[in-house]
Order: sequence, then structure tokens, then C-alpha cells
Amino acid sequence: MVAALTEKRLLIGGEWIETGEWIDVRSPYSGDVVGRVAKAGARETCQAVDAAEKAMREPLPAHKRAEILVKVAAALGRRHDEVARLISDEAGKPMKAARVEAQRAMSTYTFAAVEARKLAGEMVPMDAAQAGTGKLAFTLRQPVGIVGAISPFNFPLNLVAHKLAPALAAGCAVVLKPASQTPLSALLLAELEQEAGLPPGWLNVVVGPASELGDVLVEDERVKLITFTGSSGVGWGLRERAHRKRVNLELGNSTPVIVAADADVSLAATKVAQNGFSFAGQSCISVQRVYVERSAYDTFVAALIPLVESLKVGDPAEEDTDVGPVIDDDARERILEWIRASSGDVLTGGDLEGELIRPTVIANPAREEKVSCEEVFGPVCTVTAVESVDEAIELANGTRYGLQAGIFTSSIANALTAAQRLEFGGVTVNEAPTFRSDQMPYGGVKDSGNTREGPHYAVREMTEERLVVVELP
Ligand code: NAP
Repeated sequence: MVAALTEKRLLIGGEWIETGEWIDVRSPYSGDVVGRVAKAGARETCQAVDAAEKAMREPLPAHKRAEILVKVAAALGRRHDEVARLISDEAGKPMKAARVEAQRAMSTYTFAAVEARKLAGEMVPMDAAQAGTGKLAFTLRQPVGIVGAISPFNFPLNLVAHKLAPALAAGCAVVLKPASQTPLSALLLAELEQEAGLPPGWLNVVVGPASELGDVLVEDERVKLITFTGSSGVGWGLRERAHRKRVNLELGNSTPVIVAADADVSLAATKVAQNGFSFAGQSCISVQRVYVERSAYDTFVAALIPLVESLKVGDPAEEDTDVGPVIDDDARERILEWIRASSGDVLTGGDLEGELIRPTVIANPAREEKVSCEEVFGPVCTVTAVESVDEAIELANGTRYGLQAGIFTSSIANALTAAQRLEFGGVTVNEAPTFRSDQMPYGGVKDSGNTREGPHYAVREMTEERLVVVELP
């Protein structure tokens, strides 16, 4: 069941704008139009930058920014059902997962409000050098300037929140370009910010052809920072073109999990089943590659398969659905093609249930196959028997990605070895690497990105230090 059609306009300079052209937003499950959004082009994006520039001429005090952030968090709580339903409708995300996302966005705004209130520079100990004697010095944290934010389809609310909330905490105005397939949640968030008292121009939202809008954000020198979450190719391409700005990238992964022989195998199987297929594997940290020490392999697989087969595949609008559709037909065909091209044994799934890909487990695929080293971004896990934790670490590191990785083990030595040697931005121990709580420093190395999100870290990125030196009387 899909809610009534949602129609949204662009937000520029505090006004909701129509352009005469519309983009239909379709349910990835039914194909029905669930909403439509006014379509922007380069002209509207330039106007959005103008509005942001004008807004920043009159800084908003920290207490006001924090109050707005707190009010948005409260509104997300009050309107939880509506927000979760909208995420589910436009992204095809099962309600269970959509509810978690809506809840997490509250948390993101709450943490950002704290950051707004404690944003401060630091004292510089000037008399530590002879040259500094008789002087007082400190730093101010200044907003970096206008932020251009570009977000992906898979967390249409909370990944937008991870850009808007820290930017406001830092005192930066924003031009947001959400994913064309899922712009409705972002525009709802913009409404909530406006209702919470955000003055005109501090947030502007444009939806339209990605490269046209992206070009404006790259080329306009008034945009000082681009914060991008999405695929590696697009992200690094933007960074190459925007030499004179900060370009903060949160990109893909091919998420590995190691199960050591001494692990609680039942816990590991449960966590893999819960975190490899939720939202049809369309999370950048969805469990994809599982490396199991050989002596635990059969027990692990025997525990995993029934759990995977018990996941409910179907309509994302139903509260008990675990696995819904992938975002579109092209993604579905690509994922099926990667499964078919694998030399591994398909232990379960590998085909369709209606129009949906059944949760798929592939045993022992070759190392160079796409399912073994690229990002599947679908409901597919591989399980591979290995001789040692060392071999598992080497295989886990054998991709161009490095966002999060996990290990299940009862040995402190294994855990700490993995934490030191896994080349990833985050390592989880006895928890799936899909775990994220919104205050954590979250981000990758290698092709997975170059920054950390989480309000505390994002605010640091969105501000810069200004040194003040005072000659003492
Ligand atoms: P995508 O295709 O790269 O799109 C992401 C955003 O970039 C969308 O708003 C898209 O606009 C825009 N875009 C595309 N081409 C552009 C261009 N030339 N210039 C400027 N903007 C452009 O990624 P996606 O398919 O939405 O998301 C999935 C990817 O995101 C996966 O790789 C996933 O791992 C990654 N991801 C990473 C994180 C993280 O935190 N590290 C979190 C979630 C997802 P249109 O929608 O209009 O094309």
C-alpha cells in the first residue's frame, strides 16, 4: 500500500518554487508514482547559491542554530510514522528499516545541536616560545562558507541529515541536491527545518539532472565545500574537478566479515543474516564477503542458511518484511548478472521471488570475481573457507574499498590484530560492520572516501580555524 501522492517544490531563498517541469518519483516495488518534484536546472541552482550567500551575510548565533536543530529532532519524533512511510514509499525500504532510519535522523539532529552549542576554538600557549612572550593567542572556529551537499538514494533521510544538521551547527548555509530517485524525504526535512524557524536561504534544495546541478556546485567559487555521499566513480570525479574546494567523500564498500574458529558461530551467523540482506543489501556497509576459518565453516554455513531462508521477502510497506526490492530494474539485472557470472556454489537464492531478488549466499567464489571484490549493493553474501585469520585479513583487504570491516572471535589477540591490520575506516568486533550509531566517526580509506561523518567530525570539517594574536599591555 502506497500513501497519497506527495507533491513538492524546490526550496530557494525560503520560497517553495515551481519550474513548470516535474520529476516523477516511483515506488521501486510497485512502479507506481508516489510523488512528484519540481525539476531544477543550472539556473535554479545558481539562484540557490545566491540565496545561500545572502543568508550567510547575517550569521545565525549558535543558540539559535541549536534551537532549530532541537526542534527538528522533536518534529521527526512527532511525525515518525509519516517520515518512515515516505522513506519506504520512495526508496522501497522495508518499514522496519525505514523506522530505524527515521529514528536515527532524530539522533543525528540531537547530536548536531550539542555541537552547535560547544563549537569553540582553543588557546595557544604563546609563552611556550620566546617569540610569543607577552602575547595572548587563541583560535576561533569559523564556518567554512556555503556547503554544496549531494546525497544518495539509499538513506534518503538520515544521510541528508548527516549533511544538513552539521552544516547548520557549523553556521554554514547549504545547497542540497538529493538523489533524483528519492528526493521526497529530503524535501520533508527542509520543511521541518523551515517550520523550526530556519531563516530564508540557509537551506536550499534543488532536484534535477545530476551533472548539470553538480557542475554549478563544482564551478561556483562561492561554494567552499562539497560534501558527497554516493558511488566512488562519481565522488572521486567531483574531487578531481573541484581543485579549489574541500570535497568530502563518503563512498562505497565491499564489506568483509571474518569468523575465526574460536568465534561464537551462532552469533556470527545471526548477525550476518540480519546485516547482509536488510534493505536488499543496499547499504554501503551491508555484509558482503564472509571469511570463515575452515574448522568453523560447516557449522557456520549450517547456521546461516536457515536464517537467510527465513527472511521475509516482499512488500516494503508491510511491517514484517525483511527484504524488499532493489532500487530499479537496471540494478536488479546487474546483480543477477554478477550472481550468474560467479564460479561459486549458490547455497540459497540466486533467483527471483516475483520481481524481487531472493537473498543469495554464494560459497567459495574465486577471488577476482565481482562478487568477491566489487560492491554488489544487493541481497548477496559470499562465504569462503580460509586457513587462518591471517589469510582472512589478507582477503578482506584485497579490494579497492576500505569503509568498515568486522571480526567475530573470542580471542583478544585476533580482535586486536584485525583492528590493526584491516585497512578500513572502522573495525567492529563481535558485531557486524553494518553497525553505525550516528555520533561515531564514520568514513573510509582507499576508494571508500577521505573524510569522517558524525556531527562532531563533520562540524570540524565544515569550519576552519582563525588565529587571533593579541599583544598584551
Ligand atoms: P550515485 O549514483 O553516485 O549518486 C549519488 C548522488 O550523486 C545522487 O544525488 C546523484 O544524483 C549524484 N550524482 C550522480 N552523478 C553526478 C555528477 N556527475 N555530478 C554531481 N552529482 C552526481 O550513488 P547512489 O547509487 O545514489 O548510491 C549508492 C552508492 O552510495 C553506493 O556506492 C554506496 O556504497 C554509496 N554510499 C556510501 C555511503 C557512505 O556513507 N560511505 C552511504 C550510503 C551510500 P542523481 O540521483 O540525480 O543521479
